[in-house]
Amino acid sequence: MEADFFHIRDVLTADERATLERVRDFLDREVRPGANERWAAEESPLHLRDRIRELNITGTYADDPSVAPRSYLLTGMIGMEMARVDPSFATFFGVHGGLGMGSIRECGSDEQKERWLPSMVRWERIGAFGLTEPLVGSGTAGGLTTTARREGDTWVLNGEKKWIGNATFADLVVIWARDEADNQVKGFVVEQGTPGFTPERLRQKISLRGVHNAHIVLDDVRVPEENRLQRANSFRDTARVLKTTRGGVAWSATGCAMGAYEAARAYAVEREQFGRPIGGFQLVQDLLSRMLGNITACQAMVMRMAELHDQDKLNDAQAALAKMFCTTRMRETVAWAREVFGGNGILLEYDVARFFADAEALYSYEGTRDMNSLIVGRACTGFSAFV
Ligand SMILES: Cc1cc2nc3c(=O)[nH]c(=O)nc-3n(C[C@H](O)[C@H](O)[C@H](O)COP(=O)(O)OP(=O)(O)OC[C@H]3O[C@@H](n4cnc5c(N)ncnc54)[C@H](O)[C@@H]3O)c2cc1C
Repeated sequence: MEADFFHIRDVLTADERATLERVRDFLDREVRPGANERWAAEESPLHLRDRIRELNITGTYADDPSVAPRSYLLTGMIGMEMARVDPSFATFFGVHGGLGMGSIRECGSDEQKERWLPSMVRWERIGAFGLTEPLVGSGTAGGLTTTARREGDTWVLNGEKKWIGNATFADLVVIWARDEADNQVKGFVVEQGTPGFTPERLRQKISLRGVHNAHIVLDDVRVPEENRLQRANSFRDTARVLKTTRGGVAWSATGCAMGAYEAARAYAVEREQFGRPIGGFQLVQDLLSRMLGNITACQAMVMRMAELHDQDKLNDAQAALAKMFCTTRMRETVAWAREVFGGNGILLEYDVARFFADAEALYSYEGTRDMNSLIVGRACTGFSAFV
């Protein structure tokens, strides 16, 4: 039984359901097989880019009219289904389509959008998003140390970035840097191969091993003014991108919990101890019920979030609440799911350990739980408690 206790897919239109089914079919055929092996080998799903292109679900109709118009609800459910099968795949897809393309969509001029987005829809160019630094993570709003200095029609970038997903192979990496002249955060599209831009892959992660993350050194990287995102004038503009992608992580967290629950439920009805399936014991049933309760609460929250987004009424605090709530419930859920497997729960081949480990990254990226709590707390009280 799937982790869709309240039949959430039924709220989609017939056309939307057909699209979702196409994605589910693709995930079952192309992503699920080998997911554990790719995870163990630290392999990104880059080889699937042509197959993903055929799905025609990357980007929006506004980016390129070849993309069918799509609601935030359907987009969210697609992300949820991806994470339900493989959170690394969901992240690989989300970094390109959400963070990379989202930065250009939200902060680029019309000319820049036309220049980059249609080719990104087709995965001819892959995007990445470089905000976090080795010494500045949660405090990026006020503390970025990467600098941008204008010299005529050229900008010179200096600094370091850490954790940047897809950046080892991405064609376009959006680098957020502080303008030395006015101290404001601005966004720059750096093309792979630009002299002075050196991405180095981070190794031996214990979470989302199927995503390549880079430590980037920027040493006098020269970027033309035409590559400065023209509508990114302060961190507020960066935050517009993050509102949507944080909402996306809430959907992914829901999917990650679903994948773990489904594995646990399947195991519980098969595995026998004391002469009967462990799913017949009350304590195991209690774990499964609690998991399902967490998942269903998250599904209800992200669906309402998507409705607000579709009505253009979603605010930062609502997206932050969804991110912190769903990732926290996910973390609890994947731990219970792993527990149902006993010792087998730490073996990759049982299909639960990957979700358990991947949950840690989802919990921490796009703003840790603490940061998102503080965004919500500020909205509740009017007091900013970040420092
Ligand atoms: C797998 C992965 C992929 C990522 N991908 C990207 C990417 O593509 N692009 C990108 O730019 N970044 C990316 N990140 C970075 C991610 O967004 C940061 O890791 C995250 O924002 C936290 O920053 P930090 O790791 O520097 O932790 P820190 O900011 O050092 O925080 C450490 C701890 O201190 C807590 N803390 C900090 N300040 C406060 C406070 N005021 N009050 C209470 N607690 C506080 C935090 O909540 C956390 O628990 C990725 C991270 C991971 C793990």
